[in-house]
Amino acid sequence: MRDFQRQKVYNAEREWRKEIGEYPKLELLEIEVLATKMLRSRGINCPVKIRPGKGNRRATANFRWGWAELTFPIWSRTLPIVVHETAHIVAWKAAGGGHGPTFCRASLCLVRDYIGLTQASLLQTYYTKHRLIVSEAQEAHRNRKSHIEARLKISL
Ligand SMILES: [Zn+2]
Repeated sequence: MRDFQRQKVYNAEREWRKEIGEYPKLELLEIEVLATKMLRSRGINCPVKIRPGKGNRRATANFRWGWAELTFPIWSRTLPIVVHETAHIVAWKAAGGGHGPTFCRASLCLVRDYIGLTQASLLQTYYTKHRLIVSEAQEAHRNRKSHIEARLKISL
């Protein structure tokens, strides 16, 4: 399936990151601990492998052989990017890869729990501004393959 919301998510999150300001760089080990904790909190118990991403331009997330594989080039080793990549793994379990409605919901939940409520409502505002479709709350990790989608107006 085409990753139909990808560019919109990138645009929305770029504006959001500009507004919430700079976050300090994390060590790869800190990222591993953090990503593992985030996944556990969403009911996902897979092992996590963090790669340094030398020569990669982009941070990436893959779910392979039961492992979450996250790649973080140096520029990307900050909390907001760790949340983005980890949200891919959370959404993967329910809906596969990409930046669809399930990804957006997972991202909002992780931002709320690991960055803060203020930053989460701000991100919600940018998702709405960029006309992103966001799944219903809880759908991201409870109803696999659910087709329930809704414009984001529900509380987090
Ligand atoms: Zn992404």
